Amino acid sequence: MKLLVLGGAGYIGSHFVKEALKNNHEVIVIDNLSTGHIESLPKEVKFYQGDIRDERFLDEVFLQERIDACVHFCAYSLVGESMKDPLKYFDNNVIGAIRLVQAMVKHAVKYIVFSSTAAVYGSHEEMPITENFTTEPTNPYGESKLFMEKIFKWSDEAYGIKYVSLRYFNVAGADSEGTIGEDHSPETHLIPIILQVPLKKRDKLTIFGDDYNTFDGTCIRDYIHVLDLADAHLKALDYLKRENNSNIFNLGSESGYSNKQILSNARKITESPIPSEIGPRRPGDPDKLIASNQKAKKVLNWEVKRDIEDILKSAWNFHKNHPNGYRGDK
Ligand code: UDP
Repeated sequence: MKLLVLGGAGYIGSHFVKEALKNNHEVIVIDNLSTGHIESLPKEVKFYQGDIRDERFLDEVFLQERIDACVHFCAYSLVGESMKDPLKYFDNNVIGAIRLVQAMVKHAVKYIVFSSTAAVYGSHEEMPITENFTTEPTNPYGESKLFMEKIFKWSDEAYGIKYVSLRYFNVAGADSEGTIGEDHSPETHLIPIILQVPLKKRDKLTIFGDDYNTFDGTCIRDYIHVLDLADAHLKALDYLKRENNSNIFNLGSESGYSNKQILSNARKITESPIPSEIGPRRPGDPDKLIASNQKAKKVLNWEVKRDIEDILKSAWNFHKNHPNGYRGDK
C-alpha cells in the first residue's frame, strides 16, 4: 500500500517506517520536526516537512501523492506537560486530527490507523484493562486522545472513513540494529531516564511517589516493545483492507512492572548501581495500567514477541551508541 505516515520522524513513527518498508509498503512521511528527528528516517523515504494543522500544506501533500491509507503518529504525549498546558494538547492533537480527516474526506482516502493510549481509561481497580472498560482520563493528554477517537468514530458514521485506534500502553525499546531509538528533549519517560544515569547524563533516578495502591507503592505499567507495536500497525492495515471495518485495540503485554522493578532490571542489564530516591507523585499518574491484549491477538492475529529484558537491552544498546541522542549523528 502507499502509506502516508504522519509523525514518521518521531520515536514510534520511525520504527514503524522501517518495518513498513521491510514489508514492501511505499512510505511517504510528514513531520514538522518539533519533536521528531530527520536522522531517524531511511534515505529512500519521501519526506514533507510541515504541520498537519496547516490545511494548505496537507492539501498539497494529498494532491501530490495518491495515498491508500494514513498512519497517524503526530501528537504531544506527555502526561505531566498536559496537566500544566492542556490547551497545547487539545490544539495539536485534536485540531490536527480534524484537519487530517478533512483532507482524507476531500481526497477520498478511506483508511487510517492512529495512536491512542491507555491514558484514555483513567484509574481502574480491576486489571487487566479490556477495550470495554469505561474511559475516564485523569489527564488532558488522555482526554485529547479520547477526543481523537470520537472524531474518527463520527467520521466513520458520516464519511465512511474506516479507522483502527491502537491504545498503546507503555512503549519502550529500540530497533535491534541500535540505529534508531528514543530521543526526547527533555526526556520524561522512565526507561530512557533510568538509562541516562549509567551514561552519566544524570546523577540518579527520582521515582515519582511510593505511596500508590500497589504491592511496592510505586506505579505499575505495562511495557510493550516498539517493534511489536510497529507490527501491530501493519496488522491493523491488513485488517482495514480485509474487513473494511473500524475497531479499537489495546496494545500491551499483559505484564505489569512497578517503577522499582524496572529500575532493578535496568541495574542488572546495565551492570550499574543506578542510585535512586523517592520524590513526590507526578500529577495525573494512575496507580496501575495493565492491558488485556486478547482482542488484538484474536482479531489482528498479533502477538507479543519481546519481553521486558528485550526492551531494556535494546534501549540500552541504542543509548550506549547515541549517548547524546541523534545530535551526535549530525
Ligand atoms: N517515572 C518516575 N520517574 C521519572 C519518570 C517517570 O518515577 O523520572 C514514573 C512515572 O511517574 C510513571 C512511570 O514512571 O509512574 C512511567 O512513566 P512514563 O512517563 O515513562 O510513562 P507514562 O506512564 O506517563 O505514559
